[in-house]
Amino acid sequence: MFTEIVSSHDGNDSHGTATESHALTLLRRAYNRGYAIEATGQGGVVITWRRIALATHRPVLRSITLTPKLGPLTLTEQDLDHFRAIDSAKIVSLGRRDGARIITAGLYEIAPEHTDRLVDHGLVAADRNGSLRLTLTARLAALAKKHVSACAPQGRAVTCLCGFTVHARSAEEATQRQQAHQARVSAEFVDSLSATFTAAVAAAC
Ligand SMILES: [Zn+2]
Repeated sequence: MFTEIVSSHDGNDSHGTATESHALTLLRRAYNRGYAIEATGQGGVVITWRRIALATHRPVLRSITLTPKLGPLTLTEQDLDHFRAIDSAKIVSLGRRDGARIITAGLYEIAPEHTDRLVDHGLVAADRNGSLRLTLTARLAALAKKHVSACAPQGRAVTCLCGFTVHARSAEEATQRQQAHQARVSAEFVDSLSATFTAAVAAAC
C-alpha cells in the first residue's frame, strides 16, 4: 500500500492511498505515455510529466508521488541477496521455527531477523497459493539502489553506480544525459515486470 500525492499546477495537491495494483497501473500508464519515472530508495516512485495549462497555454509540471506506507528502509547488499534468492526460487514459504518466522526460498533459508525485516517492511507478500513473492516496493527500492547517478562537481561527467559513465560537452548536456539514463533504466524496469508478477499483484487486491 502506498500514500499517493498528485500535484496540481494551482498548488492544491491531492492525497490518497494506492494499492500495489493501482501503483503498477500508474507505472505502466506512465511508461506508455513516456512520462519520467524515478524510483526512490524507500521503494516508492515519482512520475512526472508536462501538461499545457488551459488558462495560460504554458507547460506546467504535474507529478504523482507514491510512498510505501510501511515506512522508510535503506536496502543493504544482504537484502539484495535475499531478493535474488526469493526471485529465483520456484516456491518460497514463510514458516516458523521456535516461534520465529523464517523464509525458505528453495535451498536457501533467511534468518529470523532478516525474515522479520522483509515481512514487516512489506518487501514480500503471499500469493494466492501461499508462496511468497517480492513486492513492487522491493523491486523499486532495488532499482533505486542500483542506479544512484550524479554529475561531477564541474558538471560534465555523469556516473552511475551501475557502471554507466559519460562525459558531456556542457553541464546542460550532462544533466540531460543523466536524466536520459534514469529514464532508460526506469522504462526497462517497467518493461521487465513479468506477466506472472502482474497477475500476482492484481490477484492480491
Ligand atoms: Zn545506472
